[in-house]
Amino acid sequence: MSDQSANLPPESLWLAPYAMHSSNSIGREHPESMHPYRTPFQRDRDRIVHSSAYRRLAHKTQVFIGEKGDYHRTRLTHTLEVASIARTVGRVLRLNEDLIEALALMHDLGHPPFGHAGEDVLDACARAAGGFNHNRHAVRIVTLLESRYPEFPGLNLSGELLSGQRNRVKDEHSPSPQPLLEVQVVDAADSIAYDSHDADDALELGLLEWGELLKVPLWREAVHRVKDQYAALSQTQLRRAVIHQLIEIMVSDLINSGRRRMVDASIDSPQAVMGHRSRLVTVSDSLQVQMAELEKLLFDHVYRHPTVLAERALAVEALREMYTLYSEQPASLPDVWRQRLDTDGAVRTVCDFLAGMTDRYALEEHRRNLSPTR
Ligand code: MG
Repeated sequence: MSDQSANLPPESLWLAPYAMHSSNSIGREHPESMHPYRTPFQRDRDRIVHSSAYRRLAHKTQVFIGEKGDYHRTRLTHTLEVASIARTVGRVLRLNEDLIEALALMHDLGHPPFGHAGEDVLDACARAAGGFNHNRHAVRIVTLLESRYPEFPGLNLSGELLSGQRNRVKDEHSPSPQPLLEVQVVDAADSIAYDSHDADDALELGLLEWGELLKVPLWREAVHRVKDQYAALSQTQLRRAVIHQLIEIMVSDLINSGRRRMVDASIDSPQAVMGHRSRLVTVSDSLQVQMAELEKLLFDHVYRHPTVLAERALAVEALREMYTLYSEQPASLPDVWRQRLDTDGAVRTVCDFLAGMTDRYALEEHRRNLSPTR
């Protein structure tokens, strides 16, 4: 069923032998005929872009909760940065860029409002029903909760999209088999994107001092390279140039390290990728250490900054109160959710309902239902 369309040049003209070719796709749960001019993975990407979960990423927290002006990243702009970095890497390595883009645009669909703080609340509330995990929830959204097509529930994505996303959950426990290179690229691009943009956002918001970042060798290296290139920059110009340089350093290292590992291991097919003892497209060991230093600084100074924690505490409390309200009165859920109570049970249904909310909608709902006088 997944023969390529006659209207497109064959992917084998430009994809490497170790790339995932859509003609070898395991296909979709509900079989569909080929589209006349889009590859299966292009269709997957388009379905994700047209989903409501994707649009809601615009109003979900990446790190900083919405009311701090409009400079900092949201879940949507983070997602687009990941897709942009991952496609660059994928094109150089001659991987399947359509699959990469679809995986990148899907990777954070399962985030509830208020980022990881929101995830922790839902995980605790849903303990009895197996907890809540944003990576697992993304699979639930694309296989079940999105309702757009008359023929099937969810988006009926290609199997490679689902196994790629499931791997993000499984990866926490078991190392093999390795995911496709396209999945590995998106994971690496995710880290590159947040390491750089969280530093940028934190500086802009005044949560992090330039001097603190200079203690991190990777940041110093990027500053050094920028100053070699430009004689006099304002502090803002310098900061932006350093962020670009930082991404450049990490992406170049990722491409070179990935390429070297594939040559060393004579990788010539997706099967060889999956059977390899470790991931192939990751940054070098030395850059890994440097990125960990930057991440530690971000963790200590930004993610645990008193302002960020205080903001989260309020958001978390609002989410917890709403969970309690709807679990005690499931009949007050909107129709579409109430209909799921019999099949999914109250815990999961309330969790799904809350997880779908944007930050803004969650705060409005809370004000309307639980603190009308506030
Ligand atoms: Mg991400």
